[in-house]
Amino acid sequence: MTPKKSKGIITYLLLIVIAVFCLVFISSRINADADKTEYTTVISYFDNKQVSYYKLDLGTGELTYKLKDDETEKHYTVPNVNIFLTDTENYRQEYNEDNPDAPLVQDYIKITDRTWLYSLIPVLLTIILGIAILYFMMKQSGGGGKYTTFGKANLKNGASARKATFKDVAGADEEKQELVEIVDYLKNPKKYTELGAKVPKGVLLLGPPGTGKTLLARAVAGEAGCPFFPISGSDFVEMFVGVGASRVRDLFEQAKKHAPAIIFIDEIDAVGRHRGAGLGGGHDEREQTLNQLLVEMDGFTGNESVIVIAATNRRDILDPALLRPGRFDRQIVVGYPDVKGREEILRVHAKNKPLGPDVDIKRIARTTQGFTGADLENVLNEAALLAARNERRAITEADIEEATLKVIAGPEKKSRIVTEHDRKVTAYHEAGHAIASYNLPTQDKVHQVTIIQRGMAAGLTIYRPDTDDQHVSRNQMRERIITMLGGRCAEEIFLDDICTGASNDIERATATARNMVTKYGFSSKLGTVTYGSDNDEVFLGKDYGHTKNYSEAVAAQIDEEVRSIIEKAYSDCTAILRANSDKMHFLAKYLLKYEKIDGDDFEKLMRGEISESVLTDDAPEEPVGGLGFDEEPSPENN
Ligand code: ADP
Ligand code: MG
Ligand code: ZN
Repeated sequence: MTPKKSKGIITYLLLIVIAVFCLVFISSRINADADKTEYTTVISYFDNKQVSYYKLDLGTGELTYKLKDDETEKHYTVPNVNIFLTDTENYRQEYNEDNPDAPLVQDYIKITDRTWLYSLIPVLLTIILGIAILYFMMKQSGGGGKYTTFGKANLKNGASARKATFKDVAGADEEKQELVEIVDYLKNPKKYTELGAKVPKGVLLLGPPGTGKTLLARAVAGEAGCPFFPISGSDFVEMFVGVGASRVRDLFEQAKKHAPAIIFIDEIDAVGRHRGAGLGGGHDEREQTLNQLLVEMDGFTGNESVIVIAATNRRDILDPALLRPGRFDRQIVVGYPDVKGREEILRVHAKNKPLGPDVDIKRIARTTQGFTGADLENVLNEAALLAARNERRAITEADIEEATLKVIAGPEKKSRIVTEHDRKVTAYHEAGHAIASYNLPTQDKVHQVTIIQRGMAAGLTIYRPDTDDQHVSRNQMRERIITMLGGRCAEEIFLDDICTGASNDIERATATARNMVTKYGFSSKLGTVTYGSDNDEVFLGKDYGHTKNYSEAVAAQIDEEVRSIIEKAYSDCTAILRANSDKMHFLAKYLLKYEKIDGDDFEKLMRGEISESVLTDDAPEEPVGGLGFDEEPSPENN
């Protein structure tokens, strides 16, 4: 039973007890009223000396008496013995003198005890009621509810967290392998401790968001069948100083009580940042929390069978003390899934979704490079929603294609009115990207070109990578820059004016060129040297003022080199597009008429297999669908 549950039960018990007390109290009052007439009658018997015999039990107030002209025994319960004794004093004394062996046994201590208790009941009831009311008022008012669990870790126990097993985690075979040992340890720790083996106390899962870190941690708990204490790093960071630290203490206490157990700290970077960094000053709340965490992790010995699993996507900002041996000494990188992984993930999430016969999971896996598990789940879900919206019984390939685009760039905005001029600019811009890419050997095939607005983008050119290549060559990067500049270049050549829409392309092209020079050592002028810090983001308080590790002269050289890479790319791109100017006009017109073209039709168009008559046909055929959906998630703004 969780602490929370037992607390609830205690509250209910308290309520029931109070209710019963009240009922008894009230009913006794009502009885007293009803007995009033009988009481005066009984007293009058004594006053009038009609009683021939009586016996009073001082404990229960039970009175047995006989009247002078009646031989039958009568019974009556005296509501208040004390008052009765005073009321009947005169006659009783007379009677007692006449009957020395009177049945009445005086026990004044008992009498006073009971009456004292009786008079106390209403007072007690009032106090209990008052406390109960106060307690519920505190529970009701939002803040008050919190104060009762102040400084306690907000724990969800294994029972309430969704159960998962390794089967639910698709792909990620190496990651799972690493965790199997941990599961085995949690199942039978003796096997390890008897051999003197030390199992890691902490496992750190590193990886981009949505790659299944939380899922893996839940799967470990599910497989080991032990309690799972999940908490998010941000839960520790509270408005009140010291609360975080006390939560950490509470968390470890609970886990130790339920050992073997798993503590899962999600998004640990919220507490685990470098100490002494950040703008909040030195000894802020987060540092205290982190210190407490370190103390706790050192505090429990290996054979306590509590394992801390933490997840983050920002290893770079974690405090080095957390990564030291004896703490999170096992680190598992959970990366983007590869083709095989994506296929398995899709199969897991397609299990309860009816797929049409034209859906090819392998092909979807191939076309969703760079998608995380969460993205893939999202794609299938969006596709299911689309199919439902269109009253279809099963998900079709087209649904999945549309869902993928939606995940990449947001939903289509067909209703938004776009001026003819804007459409023309977009059509030439996208045609520029597509045709530049087509003419460059290292670039991915074009999968789709569209001028339908989607999310922030006025149009999109989507590519279809053939491989999952991790390494990018210098040539590939150069040509990628040329492709990125294709949009702007086309505007300049074919529209005599340039537009703002290309700003994102230029930004990305510049960033790529700068990386070529400063990060990858691709520039012969500057050599194979890294310039600047590896961190893109300046981590305020730590890196501030330290990111530039080169002189102003070198900085000028870098700028010069970046500019020359871009300029060279731009002139190359101009040459390609000029050489293909009929294709440019044709493609732009095609896009203006049909709004999009898929990869196969695009290739046909480029090979000259589509006749110009499609532009003048009054009843245009829908562009042929059914191609693979293979693109790199690199949305092209405009
Ligand atoms: P993270 O914690 O790394 O940000 P999550 O573990 O919360 O990511 O993953 C989000 C969702 O994505 C999961 O609930 C799961 O449905 C899906 N998912 C991610 N990776 C996988 C995977 N390898 N296999 C199956 N589903 C996955
Ligand atoms: Mg997560
Ligand atoms: Zn563009």
